[in-house]
Amino acid sequence: MLPKRFDSTIEKKWQEKWKQDGTYKFDIDATQPGTQDPRPIYSIDTPPPFTSGTLHLGHIYNHTWIDIVARYRRMIGYNVLLPQGFDCHGLPTELVVEKKAGVDRRDREKFLTACTEWTENAVAKMKTQFDSVGYSTDWAHSYRTMDDSYKRRVQKTLLQFYDKGLLYRAKHPVLWCWKCGTALAKAEVGYVEKDGKLYHIDIEVVGEKDKLTIATTRPEMMPACVAVFVHPEDARYKKFVGKKAKMPIFGQEVPIIADTDVDKEFGTGVVYLCTFGDEQDMRWQKKYKLPIVEAITPNGRMSEKAGKFSGMKMAEAQKALVEELQHERRIKKVEDLPHNVLCHTERSSCENPIELLPMEQWFIKVKETLPGVLKAARGMRWFPPYTLKRLEDWCESMDWDWIISRQRTFGTPIPFWVCQSCGDVMHAKPDELPIDPRGTTKKCKCGGEAIGEKDVCDCWVDSSVSALTVTKWDEDEAFFKKTYPVTMRPQGYEIIRTWTFYTIFRSLILTGHPCFKDLMINGMVAGPDGRKMSKSYGNVVGPEVVLAKYPADAMRQWGATGTLGEDFPFSWEECEHSNKFLTKLWNVSKFIEGHFIDHRRVKQPKLETVDMWMLSKLQEVVKTTRENFEAYTFNIPMQAIRGYVWHELADYYLEMVKHRLYKPEIHGEESKLAAQWTLSYTLDTILRLFAPIAPHITEEIYSDMFKEKTVHHAGFPNVDEKFINKKAEEACGILIKITDDVRKHKSGNSISLGADLEKAVVETPDVETAKSLERDIKGTNKILNLEIKKGAELKVSF
Ligand SMILES: [Zn+2]
Ligand SMILES: [Zn+2]
Repeated sequence: MLPKRFDSTIEKKWQEKWKQDGTYKFDIDATQPGTQDPRPIYSIDTPPPFTSGTLHLGHIYNHTWIDIVARYRRMIGYNVLLPQGFDCHGLPTELVVEKKAGVDRRDREKFLTACTEWTENAVAKMKTQFDSVGYSTDWAHSYRTMDDSYKRRVQKTLLQFYDKGLLYRAKHPVLWCWKCGTALAKAEVGYVEKDGKLYHIDIEVVGEKDKLTIATTRPEMMPACVAVFVHPEDARYKKFVGKKAKMPIFGQEVPIIADTDVDKEFGTGVVYLCTFGDEQDMRWQKKYKLPIVEAITPNGRMSEKAGKFSGMKMAEAQKALVEELQHERRIKKVEDLPHNVLCHTERSSCENPIELLPMEQWFIKVKETLPGVLKAARGMRWFPPYTLKRLEDWCESMDWDWIISRQRTFGTPIPFWVCQSCGDVMHAKPDELPIDPRGTTKKCKCGGEAIGEKDVCDCWVDSSVSALTVTKWDEDEAFFKKTYPVTMRPQGYEIIRTWTFYTIFRSLILTGHPCFKDLMINGMVAGPDGRKMSKSYGNVVGPEVVLAKYPADAMRQWGATGTLGEDFPFSWEECEHSNKFLTKLWNVSKFIEGHFIDHRRVKQPKLETVDMWMLSKLQEVVKTTRENFEAYTFNIPMQAIRGYVWHELADYYLEMVKHRLYKPEIHGEESKLAAQWTLSYTLDTILRLFAPIAPHITEEIYSDMFKEKTVHHAGFPNVDEKFINKKAEEACGILIKITDDVRKHKSGNSISLGADLEKAVVETPDVETAKSLERDIKGTNKILNLEIKKGAELKVSF
């Protein structure tokens, strides 16, 4: 018997039971029931959350969808591989260990051990959180990017890229965040509007009386100036082209070059090129083969090239230099100029301006492979389809190779050594992996000493082998064959240019085949006020706060309300509404239990019109749910299921059959049985339809009433064509309309809904149908004397 009230503590009970029973255990060799045929496999490359120690609502949102897909696929007969990994390496962990735990990173062994321990703890907490929302992963297939097995795979791919000539080491301008002390990938930076000033500075031209006035926002870059540019059609400056400009204070003489990329309208129409102020500088430096002057050091200060300004922070140097230029009366004008500055914006709250510094880094060649990546991506099904455009745009804008090295400690080591004498690169042997070359040396063939690489991999180098990891590439050939390509990659749109791109790219190079069939793309979760969740807005809601108030099955319904690809606010109202629905479903089930016969164990009785209407409507819900689950849309089926239970079932059908259930002596045993049979069939179907969204409550009711081990192995409902009955639906439309009118009449006249009505007259153009439902009209509405007569339109009078 179900307890009287729905109690959400059943959720914990089921989570433990599922674990004990291995309900979601994945067996690669699972067969179809009663046969030796393998079950078709559905594999999911789930996003590994960064191991911060806590999941946020964005994770819950994303993983609710993933879990619905996994549960649905299992129920329709797939063998579902739902592994959940964890992305362990990252600057935040290093900072916590360094600052909060006080471990010095210079003692590398101790520091790495502390990072590992901290991360293990974080993973344990996050696993508990995943369990607490009923996430149906098989933890036996979990991975952590800090594990030896994971690092081995990452390093192996690097060796293969090296063998293919796609991985190299070079001195190259990199996007450098001096505050974090590391190189960044292009995908980690973005433009931020900042206040600034445009300085108009007079420059002497060698052998000319007239001066040139350059306009720049960064006078402190002057020591790195290697050329001055004007537009070839700018009449003001034609005479200077080919001559030399002499920088004030620093004294270097640099060529004056005409190039059509100069914007005549900006500032004075004269710009200087400093290596490197921005990406335009890089293009010009290459095009005109100009020298490179490094005026900025990796810690964000002026280098010795800046003369008396060396050692100063950039902002200090700017101030001092401007003062000196003013003193020399070189500054003609200063304009306020808010402008976009490239900053460290992604996956970090840093927001520090980025410098382009030439540095020895490790790179992976990307550009030549882009056509193949695009072709692979276009062959995949994107849900929603427009998200493919983000990847296409990203590929088209890409003009840099991928910098994979990071100047950090807790990360996957780069398995190479560099000779200090000849500069040759030596790599680890595959059977040595995983290896940490830091602090080790090798003998080079030139006789020199090769030193182990100190840098570690960018975290995307780790996470973009997830598809190869979950399918056991290079580890278990049979497993890989069965699970690759991955059936579905779920993720947020904000990491299409990183996680999606790098995964498709690397998997393609290493396996020769596209890695995904489908991609399910979600948006970001906003705060309840619709703004981006942020501590500064005070609108952050954590899943633990929601779970303290509502069952996981309510929070999951909130998650299922979102739309593919679109941002989605958290909503307390939706949680409240979802929770009310759980109570409704419970109460409906309690009612049915009071009249329960298991429809699977009795012969189908002769159904009446209202039964046929109920079952016909139910087939629509089944159809909608299946179609939308196939297309990774959850809000439409959820509304369909909830609407059906709330309205068709609870508001109407239950009221329509009460007289048959309670008074078989009047209406006959067969009529009662037909109602019972229909209720059982309907509840069974609803529970199985709703199980992927709300796995706990459906399990509780299903196991209690239908005595099966678990609803999650019970199979998903199919549309039963024989129950589709438009005639019954039309006929019942009359009954519903009359019922609505009677309810309106009763409530308008302060008559209780359960009270008898002495008399009612129904006028209708379809007397025959109304007559066939006479008993239902009377029984449902407690009408003692009913008259049915011909009329122009359906109308009830009292
Ligand atoms: Zn930074
Ligand atoms: Zn050498």
